[in-house]
Amino acid sequence: RAKYDGGQRMCFFERSMDKALQRRRMVEHELRLAIGRDEFDLLYQPQFSLETEEACGTEALIRWHHPVHGKIAPAHFISVAEETGLIVPLGEWVLRRACSDAVKWEKPLTVAVNLSPAQFRDGDIVQTVASVLKDTGLPPERLELEITENLLINDTEEVLQKLKTFRKLGVAVAMDDFGTGFSSLSYLARFPFSKIKIDRHFIQTMTKDPAVKAIVRTIIALGKSLDITITAEGVETVEQARMLREFGCPEVQGFLYSQPISAEEAGHAKPKVSTLSKHTTAA
Ligand code: C2E
Ligand code: MG
Ligand code: MG
Ligand code: MG
Repeated sequence: RAKYDGGQRMCFFERSMDKALQRRRMVEHELRLAIGRDEFDLLYQPQFSLETEEACGTEALIRWHHPVHGKIAPAHFISVAEETGLIVPLGEWVLRRACSDAVKWEKPLTVAVNLSPAQFRDGDIVQTVASVLKDTGLPPERLELEITENLLINDTEEVLQKLKTFRKLGVAVAMDDFGTGFSSLSYLARFPFSKIKIDRHFIQTMTKDPAVKAIVRTIIALGKSLDITITAEGVETVEQARMLREFGCPEVQGFLYSQPISAEEAGHAKPKVSTLSKHTTAA
């Protein structure tokens, strides 16, 4: 009886594995074609100074326009691109496109590019960044590289040297989704970050949960004492923006201020609202 159950479970497991595998193979196949067919595009989500509510930077976010399936969000293909190594050429495309878009903007906003661990492991990321900056003419001070904690778990010495090289070039390094991993705090001491992006989960729960509120306030204070700038991600409400201002948070990014927008719009990005005066106004 036990054996029979085991057998059944195994069979079910294999079948669902098979489906997941099939889907992955399909995405992989389509991804390979997509790179050649120019089906990718970048949107830019502006970041604003909370003090002035002027745009200070942007984050490049990839979009895939599939000829049959339509728009596909990064959550549905970045992990496949990472597992298959396709993220290396795709990531280089993103970097090059982001820098060549940003160099044309009328405001000298920074542009942040998300990097995957595979780009550090399999490609020469330092060489890629250096040659993209040279080819596009974007001043290094306008480029920011976003990494997550996943990168810092393995090969830390090699990664550390690469991050230090970026900083020497004048490129900023941001820790993305801060607080979602296991060792966020210890990584701050070890790696040369110029920015912390507080994960949107904290921002979205801080107005209801006093413990989360205390954590956010403390991260902002920590950023100040470490001389690391802070961006709050996923700001969606006026209440969140005001609380962050009260805590002295320097920068915000979120749907309240702006959705991700086209390269053309990003060059003169404006906030959708103003929360500076007592009454919130549509800008
Ligand atoms: P991320 O780097 O943390 O980017 C922020 C994500 O939060 C974006 O989702 C953005 O659209 C979304 N977002 C911004 N404001 C708000 C808000 O107020 N509320 C909510 N609920 N969401 C908000 P998106 O564009 O779907 O990207 C998801 C993730 O995919 C990114 O998270 C990043 O990890 C990855 N990704 C995107 N583009 C690239 C890329 O070019 N290369 C790599 N390696 N990863 C990328
Ligand atoms: Mg990011
Ligand atoms: Mg993030
Ligand atoms: Mg994320």
